[in-house]
Amino acid sequence: MYSSTSLFSQQRCATTYISPNNYKQDYKSAAVTNPILIPVAVHVVWHAPEEQISQEQVASQIEVLNEDYRRDNIEIPDIHPLFDDLAADVELEFCLYTITYTETSYEGIYNQLSGGKRRVCFTDLGGHDAIAPDQYLNIWVSGRSDNALGSATAPGQASTGEDGVFIAPEYFGTTGSVSTPYHLGRTCTHEIGHYFGLQHLWGPGLENDAICSGDDGITDTPKQYSSYRNTCPSQPGNSCGTPDMFMNFMNYTDDACMALFTPGQKDFIHHILMTERPGLLDSDCTSTHTYNNLINNDIHIAPNPTDGVFSIQLPSNDIYDIAIFDSTGRLVKQMQKVSGPYDQMKLVHLTNGIYFLKIGNGQKIYIKKLIIAR
Ligand SMILES: [Zn+2]
Repeated sequence: MYSSTSLFSQQRCATTYISPNNYKQDYKSAAVTNPILIPVAVHVVWHAPEEQISQEQVASQIEVLNEDYRRDNIEIPDIHPLFDDLAADVELEFCLYTITYTETSYEGIYNQLSGGKRRVCFTDLGGHDAIAPDQYLNIWVSGRSDNALGSATAPGQASTGEDGVFIAPEYFGTTGSVSTPYHLGRTCTHEIGHYFGLQHLWGPGLENDAICSGDDGITDTPKQYSSYRNTCPSQPGNSCGTPDMFMNFMNYTDDACMALFTPGQKDFIHHILMTERPGLLDSDCTSTHTYNNLINNDIHIAPNPTDGVFSIQLPSNDIYDIAIFDSTGRLVKQMQKVSGPYDQMKLVHLTNGIYFLKIGNGQKIYIKKLIIAR
C-alpha cells in the first residue's frame, strides 16, 4: 500500500523520459577515446541566501562525478560480492567550464513557469540562460517546490534552452549546505544518468509497484521493483526473484550506500553520447581529476557489515593511526594499532550506520568503509 503521508516524502528525482528505440545492448563503444571529457556549466540561481552555494561546494560535486563515473569512489572495495565484478569504469570525466551566479526574486524557481517556459533556464525570466546545451552539460542549482532532490531532461526530450540537470542546493556536492542522507553528491550522479538516457532499475513505471513488469532495458542490471528509497541496506532483497542491485546509482538508496554503474549502463551512456549528444564530444576541456586509487587489497576487514566486533588485517607491523568518521564526516574515534598484522577491533558503542576508517602509517593512507548493522 502506498502512503502519501510518509514521513520521508523526498523524491530523489522527478524525471520522465523515453528510451531511444534503436538502442542495442550489444553496442560497443569502440570509436571513443577514453576518458571522455564532459564540459559542465553550473548555474547557481539563488533566492534564499543559503541557496547561494560556494564555489567549493560546486567543485566538490564535480569531484564526486569524476569518482563515480571513473569507478574511483570510496565504496568500490566493499561492494557486495554478488555485484562487485559489475562495477564499470564509465570512463567519463567532468570539467567545470564555468559557474554563474544569479540572484532571483522567485522562490523555488525550478518549478516556476512563464508562458510554458521554465524560469530558471532563462535570464530574462529570473534564471540564467543555458550555455550551448548541445556542447555543454548545463546544471542548474536552485530552490524547488516539488519535494524532489533533482531532475533531468532525457535525450531529445527538453524544450529549447531547458536541456540539462536540475538539483536543489542542499543536495549538490559534499560540503557547505548539504543535507543528509543526500549529502554525498549522488543526486547529481543519478540525474546525469537520466540525462544520458538511463532509467531507474525498476523501469519507467512507479517505484515499488510490486508487479515486476517494468525494466530498465539494461541486461546486466537485475529486474527489481524496490526503489530502496530512504534505505541503506547491506544485503540485497529479492523483489523480483533475483537479488536486487540496491547499490546501483539509478536507485533511490541513500547517498552513502550507492556504489556503481554496470558495464551495460556504461555501453548505453556511450551510445547515447554518440547518437544523441555528440556535441559534448567536441570539448577541449581539461580534467582535474586525480585518482584516489582506493582499490587495494592491502587491508581486510571482516566481517563487514559488522555488529561492531571485527578483525582488521593491516599490511605490516608498522604503527598505524586509525581515525573513524561517520557518514557526515564527523570524527568519532581515533586510535593507534601497534600489535601485529591481524587484530580484533571493537566499536560496540557506535550506532548502526556507515563509517569510514582512515588508516595511515605515515607513508600511505587507506580509506575503508565499514558498515555497522546489528
Ligand atoms: Zn531518477
